[in-house]
Amino acid sequence: MRVAVVGSGAMGAASAWRLAERGVRVVSFDRHSPPHVFGSRHGETRITRTAYFEGPWYVPLLRETFPLWRELEQSAGSHLLTLNGALMIGSSASDAVMGARAAAAAHGLDIEVLEARDVHRRYPGQVLRSGEVAILDRQAGFVRPEAAVGAMIERVLALGGDLRRNTVVTSVDGLTVTTAETREAFDAVVIAAGPWMHDLVPWLPLTVE
Ligand SMILES: Cc1cc2nc3c(=O)[nH]c(=O)nc-3n(C[C@H](O)[C@H](O)[C@H](O)COP(=O)(O)OP(=O)(O)OC[C@H]3O[C@@H](n4cnc5c(N)ncnc54)[C@H](O)[C@@H]3O)c2cc1C
Repeated sequence: MRVAVVGSGAMGAASAWRLAERGVRVVSFDRHSPPHVFGSRHGETRITRTAYFEGPWYVPLLRETFPLWRELEQSAGSHLLTLNGALMIGSSASDAVMGARAAAAAHGLDIEVLEARDVHRRYPGQVLRSGEVAILDRQAGFVRPEAAVGAMIERVLALGGDLRRNTVVTSVDGLTVTTAETREAFDAVVIAAGPWMHDLVPWLPLTVE
């Protein structure tokens, strides 16, 4: 099976990596030469959490990521994920606090609810306002996104995949990917163009703010 992955940012590089590990022949395309400074994942750190206030249904997916980060670290020989815990601070009735507690309750997560005085004692740099609490999510920390994208790409290339750098995909028509120089058919296409998604899939109701 031959799969095209359009965009080699955090999402595209991760898709290409997991496909390549499953024995799929991957051809990635990127308009720049990743890892580069023009994508959403540019920077030194990105937070990762488990007590996801956005919805308990994310928790199983998030749990799957941790062994994968360690697997990637091993193949890259570099440290990509630091689990130092995270505090989610808000009023007890806020979406963030209630959502994090609901996710933790649904999945038996190891969280701690801290009152202002506990936070002041343990994390003196944090000052809570009246009525606020903090949720300590122990299975949280930060990822190094630039290094992670680089490591995923290296792994794809080591597994025999291809990355076409500085190559703009001008259209994806069904399973056919067109650039200025080529027009190729694949067995499947993953489009992970980040903020450029709308250029390639204009019918998707997405707005980049
Ligand atoms: C300031 C900031 C802070 C953030 N903090 C967090 C955080 O703490 N935790 C967290 O989980 N998330 C965070 N996010 C969100 C996270 O960074 C993004 O969700 C993630 O980086 C998106 O990755 P992506 O691969 O979809 O997009 P991108 O990284 O933008 O990658 C898209 C890629 O597609 C390529 N491309 C686009 N169009 C084409 C084309 N036509 N042909 C070829 N290639 C193309 C681009 O060159 C680019 O490399 C943050 C985002 C920002 C901006």
